[in-house]
Amino acid sequence: ARQRSARAARLESLGQLAGGIAHDFNNLLAIILNYADFLAEEVTGEGTRDLARIRDAADRAKSLTGQLLVFAKREPTKVEVVDLNEVVTDAGELLSRTIGANVRLVCRPRNHALPVCANRGRLDQILLNLVINARDAMPDGGVVVVETDLAEVCAGDATPLPPGPYARLTVSDTGTGMTAEVRDRLFEPFFTTKPADQGTGLGLATVYGIVGDADGHIGVESTPGVGTTFRILLPPAAEPADQPAAPAARRSPGHG
Ligand code: ADP
Repeated sequence: ARQRSARAARLESLGQLAGGIAHDFNNLLAIILNYADFLAEEVTGEGTRDLARIRDAADRAKSLTGQLLVFAKREPTKVEVVDLNEVVTDAGELLSRTIGANVRLVCRPRNHALPVCANRGRLDQILLNLVINARDAMPDGGVVVVETDLAEVCAGDATPLPPGPYARLTVSDTGTGMTAEVRDRLFEPFFTTKPADQGTGLGLATVYGIVGDADGHIGVESTPGVGTTFRILLPPAAEPADQPAAPAARRSPGHG
């Protein structure tokens, strides 16, 4: 447990550092873009093209610092009771468009609602980040399966979560898989194996932060050449509807 909290503290301080730098850079980039706008009115000929390059690069840098700010964001977002099933069902179309033609998306939402206390936009982000990574791991095509169900955590289990029922989101792919070295580092901010213009190394660090904020847990299993499975457990907002339900919510929406 101590190792885990040292790791969480390290991720948190990296996040703060990243957020501070992103904030200052964002301001500087705004100045660069502003002056580029002024110059655009004076520059002619060859200079126009050079100026366009400066603006393109500054725009790209701004979108990167924007992602960093989202990652480092520590203010509480609006937390409400959200049906994890609905998140998966609603995201289906966007996800299909994101993954491209040679990857097949299979969505298997649970039959019953899976209410969790979370921010809807952040759940969308988790799903999108995991599915984009799955796509990137399958350059020659493959299948990504997104599944939701109810899982029971027992006292002896490897997860650090208290025993009980949890809403589970599983995203698995038939991609390249990863080595033990990559698996050990994949939640670290800025850790990426992708080319610089494709990976920021912030996707899974963001997912890790969101899941932690929701008192959940994320686990990964991966076999090189076979594929990868991410499993996220989130505490349910209320007793599941298909069990003899207690009317009181287990967690109030204001929690966490
Ligand atoms: P990025 O996608 O920008 O590289 P992430 O934090 O999302 O950043 O992922 C970090 C690294 O973890 C990736 O560069 C990749 O090496 C590895 N990874 C993540 N998801 C998968 C996956 N589904 N299959 C194989 N490798 C993965």
